[in-house]
Amino acid sequence: MDDFSQVRKEAARILSEKIVDMVIGFKQGTIPLKSQPMFITSQEDTDKLILDGFCQNNLAVFLHDQPKDKRIGIICRACESRAVRALVIEHQVNRENLYLIGVPCMGILDWKKIQDAADGPVTNAQESGDQILLEIGDKKQVLIRNEFIVDSCRGCGHREPIDVDIQIGEISPIEMNADNLPQTWGESFKSKSADERFQLFTEETERCIRCYACREACPMCYCTECFVDHIAPRWSESMVTPGGTQAWHIIRAFHQTGRCVECGACERACPMDIKMVYLTDKLNDDMKKEYGFEVGENEEKQPPFATITLDDKNRFKY
Ligand code: SF4
Ligand code: SF4
Ligand code: SF4
Repeated sequence: MDDFSQVRKEAARILSEKIVDMVIGFKQGTIPLKSQPMFITSQEDTDKLILDGFCQNNLAVFLHDQPKDKRIGIICRACESRAVRALVIEHQVNRENLYLIGVPCMGILDWKKIQDAADGPVTNAQESGDQILLEIGDKKQVLIRNEFIVDSCRGCGHREPIDVDIQIGEISPIEMNADNLPQTWGESFKSKSADERFQLFTEETERCIRCYACREACPMCYCTECFVDHIAPRWSESMVTPGGTQAWHIIRAFHQTGRCVECGACERACPMDIKMVYLTDKLNDDMKKEYGFEVGENEEKQPPFATITLDDKNRFKY
């Protein structure tokens, strides 16, 4: 976002007027290509706030650990605002204690791909319009921004923050999924046969080391005890075996059906570069087709797999 001063001013205002106790945003990271989450309680610190393509987390994940009665301001791109709405619907946060500052989003950048494309170790990186300006020691290099946007953002169909208390900045009409780029993983997965899809899934999941960084990064994974940690009964094999990792990925994806906001934070957290959003994206498509439900679209409706009514005519089959 080019002019971020309005966001900093608004963050300072809501802190000084005691509308919130804390603001969650991003600050410059200590190493190049990485911005980092920031938790601000004093208005003097708001001038450290930034937003760029290196802000990798979905900030809504940090609401899980906060007391529900704490008043929190949060800087929200569209997928963060959709996650907040979903968390409100699932009674995980109190909307009246949150203050959402909506900001436009130009898509998150793949820092590993940028580093690979650079002529040496990157010492500084800045965005400038549709370019990424790199410094590699005393050398400079320019990359085309669009070519480094992560898959989940290229496929993003919701770029406008919802249900915010204030919107700052215009949503850019810039097309992130430019014609010269290859298909996203999700698009190519959907176009394959069932056998080919299973083959891709098998190849992706066999690299999984069961570290659960994907779970920790996900705004919609908030269970105090995840099914994989459950011992009695044990729902899935805990070993790093093909069966255990496939079960983890399948059950995790089903728990996200109609709930995943497709932010891609899980993939960016994965140390093994494993693709995951293609699965929840496909399940979200099915949810839309079968139940007309889309996460974040309605401010009251629970996701279909999270609801049960006693007069449901479609009984469970044993
Ligand atoms: S998923 Fe959409 S709203 Fe979220 S960071 Fe990517 S482009 Fe922005
Ligand atoms: S499963 Fe991944 S893409 Fe979906 S909400 Fe969680 S972190 Fe975001
Ligand atoms: S972050 Fe990656 S390696 Fe770790 S459990 Fe998730 S998919 Fe597996």
